[in-house]
Amino acid sequence: MDIDYRALGLKVGLEMHQQLNTKHKLFCRCPLRLRQDKPEVYFLRRLRPTPSELGEIDPAALFEYKRGRFYVYESYEDNVCLVEHDEEPPHEMNPEAIDIALEVALMLHAKPVDEIHVMRKVVIDGSNTTGFQRTAVIALGGYIDDLEGRVPLETICLEEDAARKMGESEKEVRYRLDRLGFPLIEVTTAPVIHSPAQAERVAYKIGQVLRMTGRVRRGLGTIRQDLNISIKGGAKIEIKGVQRLDLLAKIVEYEVLRQLNLLRIRDELLRRNVKEEDIVPDFIDVSHVFRNTRSRVIRRALSSEGVVLALKLPNFAGLLGYEIQPKKRFGTELSDYARFWGGVGGIFHTDELPKYGISGDEVAKLRAELGCGERDCVVLVADDEEKAKRALEAVVERAIMALKGVPEETRGYNPDGTTHYSRPRPGAARMYPETDIRPILITMDRIERILKMLPEPPEVKLRKFIEEYGLSKELARQMIHSYRLDLFERLVTEFPRLPPRLIAVTLEQTMKSLAREGLPVDNIGDEHLMDLFKALSEGLIAKEAIPNVLGYLAKNPEKSVKEAIKELGLRALSIEELDGLIESLLKENEELVRKRGAQAWQPLMGMLMKRVRGKIDGRTVADRLKLHISKLLSAKS
Ligand SMILES: [Zn+2]
Repeated sequence: MDIDYRALGLKVGLEMHQQLNTKHKLFCRCPLRLRQDKPEVYFLRRLRPTPSELGEIDPAALFEYKRGRFYVYESYEDNVCLVEHDEEPPHEMNPEAIDIALEVALMLHAKPVDEIHVMRKVVIDGSNTTGFQRTAVIALGGYIDDLEGRVPLETICLEEDAARKMGESEKEVRYRLDRLGFPLIEVTTAPVIHSPAQAERVAYKIGQVLRMTGRVRRGLGTIRQDLNISIKGGAKIEIKGVQRLDLLAKIVEYEVLRQLNLLRIRDELLRRNVKEEDIVPDFIDVSHVFRNTRSRVIRRALSSEGVVLALKLPNFAGLLGYEIQPKKRFGTELSDYARFWGGVGGIFHTDELPKYGISGDEVAKLRAELGCGERDCVVLVADDEEKAKRALEAVVERAIMALKGVPEETRGYNPDGTTHYSRPRPGAARMYPETDIRPILITMDRIERILKMLPEPPEVKLRKFIEEYGLSKELARQMIHSYRLDLFERLVTEFPRLPPRLIAVTLEQTMKSLAREGLPVDNIGDEHLMDLFKALSEGLIAKEAIPNVLGYLAKNPEKSVKEAIKELGLRALSIEELDGLIESLLKENEELVRKRGAQAWQPLMGMLMKRVRGKIDGRTVADRLKLHISKLLSAKS
């Protein structure tokens, strides 16, 4: 299907967040280290926004606050200090992080500010012990050039990353403090991206500039992308925290589809003459209809003293079952609201019934009970009465919004590129100055120093890769665009004995072909790759063993390269051991050598490689075999 996105008035803005690889955090001296083992310290907090702040807080934040949940913070001794606990004021902003942000700003043609002012941005979800996130504008303007034209940037900021959410229940949300305070650079484009493909290209390009510095963190969760997307007549939708750049085009495409379909539903409702006052929060207890139901969800609710509440949506029949994104129906939107505001598992509606153990008979009784005509739809919630009521109130609210089209929302994304409701869009973030940190002057000297250290532009790197490193043009080009560009350069410098071509082929082609075989190569970390090339450089393994070792590490990321080599039995052969093998092979095949002379080399090489592949370099094997054959032949003659 070809969609003319410009004609639809598509506008996309990107907000890219990338963790920097500094020696310590943004406002304290703690190292940037995530820990998976059991936390050493726990403490509880309840965030209490002051009334003046509450006055302007958005409904979802207020709702969160009223829920009265506790925040449980998990902490450690070695990578979290009193600053993250909010028991000590922040230290001076990390100058290393400022330098990297300035470097990125200059590479993106942005104009650094004269003075950095740290601000506090209110967050109420508990992801920050202070109740706000510290953020500072480092540069303004700048641009990215793209096939479809130049995309201006708005701001480049430095921010502290939030704590990691480890889980939640009705009573508490658990956060781990190790990530809190990691420096993040935030690059914001103007909302002038006009197609899904362009959104993805621009994101990749910004990502490439960030990686060119060689000073950003890599791996899952180190890059997070927010998008805002709107079309003419639709609404501005914010999609948060996308970690995979290769999903961006799909997400934009599906969001456009969703907005178009919501507009179609609106038009149909208007055609059916549905009015806001027709949608009334009149909830009927229909528990008795389901006394003998085979629906497990309803049985479970009723047996734990819950109820089944029903709501009539007049003239909505057929619309709840209408697909608005692949496998997502308008009913899914209502269900998301019910889940969020009511804390229920979901809803049933008559567009999809009889199903899920609910019989045709029960549906007929239900319709009769509510006095429904054929054009009406019924929504059911089976849960604790209070929760069921709240859930249906949210469904009423969402159904009324359908008369206007697309409600403004913040959404989360699913692995297939579709999205789900996560909360209403908050108003403009409330910001106020961070009084614990003095403004930082950016001097001309500093800018000049950074200008001198800027990474080589891509075209210079490309030439170096071809001329100095001996990569083919194609491979050099792949490497320039590679996610692991900085790692490649580090490996080449660190292991001068290894051919850069081998490193490039491994990072690009070998990893890709392993991924195609379905191996989870994302599990392979930089440390693994560093150790692998170290083992190669020291002659512990042969290059033929690379795919095996990487495949093993992808499946067993907790193992080290040394362990992988041992487990796979890949210990390198010594020349003496190889010679021994060759001698016995020649003895076994005396006849062959006698008959074919030097020609026997080829079949023998095949047999030999079967025994030693991955344990020693193929060229060495060939050379030694030739030597042994010619010795044998000259001894005979
Ligand atoms: Zn700290």
